[in-house]
Amino acid sequence: MDKIIIKGLEVYAWHGVYVEEQEKGQKFIVNATLYTDTTRASRTDELEDSIDYGSVCMMINDFMTKNRMNLLEAVTNCLARKLLMSYPTLEAVTLEIEKPQAPIPLPFQSVSVKVHRSWHTAYIAFGSNMGDRLAYINGAIDSLSSDRCCEVKKVSKVVESKPYGGIEQENFYNGALELRTLYDPKELLELLQGEERHAGRVKTEHWGPRTLDLDILYYDDEVVQTDTLSIPHVDLQNRDFVLIPLNEIAPYKRHPLIGMTTKEMLKKLKDSYVSRQ
Ligand code: AMP
Repeated sequence: MDKIIIKGLEVYAWHGVYVEEQEKGQKFIVNATLYTDTTRASRTDELEDSIDYGSVCMMINDFMTKNRMNLLEAVTNCLARKLLMSYPTLEAVTLEIEKPQAPIPLPFQSVSVKVHRSWHTAYIAFGSNMGDRLAYINGAIDSLSSDRCCEVKKVSKVVESKPYGGIEQENFYNGALELRTLYDPKELLELLQGEERHAGRVKTEHWGPRTLDLDILYYDDEVVQTDTLSIPHVDLQNRDFVLIPLNEIAPYKRHPLIGMTTKEMLKKLKDSYVSRQ
């Protein structure tokens, strides 16, 4: 990806753990690499089609002088997120903030914190089989859309499906959406679980009825395996109520472990139904 590079921007600000740092302030040096596609700007030669690095420098200065934080880690992370939220064509940023006068009682050149942050693409499956099913689903989509760290890019049609797992209950409404997000997988899971709680979901039996179910199907091409999170979502290749809506919005998305596209997995699943009959 193309880059716009800002080197050695000086900002006088008041971040630090020590009282003196917060009272007197000190000089910080900011280096930023902005990742953006410059092809459109190169064609039109218009500033509005690129990222105005002057305005980025002003935003960095503004953020750093108006806030007071203890840790350089906090300043760097919050500022990276703010830049990504503020410039729609900014895909990723590498941000380094140096503190050349850090309170270290030894000779040194500089200390700095450097982070790389970017937008990610996640696919989320949604489902509901209790109460006003569409209202729960639409409520969650609206809430994700209004989160500044998320952008809902595509939403599939809702499909009605029979409950999975053999428990007697209402039919489900299921669907899938594509989300552009700044959250990492764990933060995204917490956000989705907050939405489920907001919809009044109470944990009952494993395959039991629910007002709202939100699952992370994919997060870029990452494979995550922890006690609380499995990405890609387990068994998605065997669930038509996941693959049918996903095929509508991402037919060529490839499962990073299985290596098949949504379209191929759906065909394989349908073929397996036919061969069982
Ligand atoms: P469910 O009944 O499908 O809502 O399952 C919820 C549980 O699955 C939660 O405790 C999550 O921590 C866990 N989980 C594991 N992987 C995922 C995922 N990819 N998306 C959502 N929940 C997940």
